Amino acid sequence: MDEQAGEQVDELRRELCEYGRRAAALGLVIGTSGNLSAREGDLVVVTPSGVALDRLRPEDCPVVDLEGHVVQGERKPSSETPMHLALYSATGARAVVHTHSVFATVVASTMTELPPIHYNALLLGGAVRVAPYATYGTPELARNVIAAIENRQAALMASHGAVTIGGGLEQAFEATRLLEWLCEVYVRALGVGRPAVLTEDQLTAVIERAFSG
Ligand SMILES: [Zn+2]
Repeated sequence: MDEQAGEQVDELRRELCEYGRRAAALGLVIGTSGNLSAREGDLVVVTPSGVALDRLRPEDCPVVDLEGHVVQGERKPSSETPMHLALYSATGARAVVHTHSVFATVVASTMTELPPIHYNALLLGGAVRVAPYATYGTPELARNVIAAIENRQAALMASHGAVTIGGGLEQAFEATRLLEWLCEVYVRALGVGRPAVLTEDQLTAVIERAFSG
């Protein structure tokens, strides 16, 4: 790794710690559940296995190549690293955030998609699909997530949690917060009555308005 790549990787390690702490502070992750990564060229910096995200230090975060071989760091990469790497190879993402946040997991455990009942769902690409269940850390789970996230910034993972992608950690993290909010609104709305799902025409009108300035 040359000096410039080294500096960029160090910056991403610091960012992973910052967003790890924020995710823990907001209750999006508990203990060692959840993992984050960011890509720089052919390298990916990922949170390690077995370290609570609110106690992460930059040097704890391993650097792997796109095949998952550790090129820097003492710790073992997160067990969900194969899913992160599959997302980088299938999409233009520069960052991935995966959590077991409460409302996302409630929806992921009970439904096949999160219907768009609020127009902000469009910020994630519309209805958020639930990837079929597979054991954590397996190529099968990675494949299911890739299929579910097509043309989206987010996917839910059946009986497991949520995953979001973005052009950087801030974007992927904000997508995770928005997804959790949308899931909470949906679950709470179900407790009051039958939430109205926005129609294609209604969603198209929002897109047209957003692009008309
Ligand atoms: Zn997980």
